[in-house]
Amino acid sequence: MATYKCFNCGKKTTNNSLEKRFLCVGCGSKIFYKPRSKIAKIKAI
Ligand SMILES: [Zn+2]
Repeated sequence: MATYKCFNCGKKTTNNSLEKRFLCVGCGSKIFYKPRSKIAKIKAI
């Protein structure tokens, strides 16, 4: 699952909820960016 950040207000949104409607739930903006995530640090314990 990818996480996107609203370009306008910075609210995080997953691509799961973006599939339903590509709108920020916080401010209604349609501009998102994908912040650099540290995928390598995720550990499944
Ligand atoms: Zn927003």
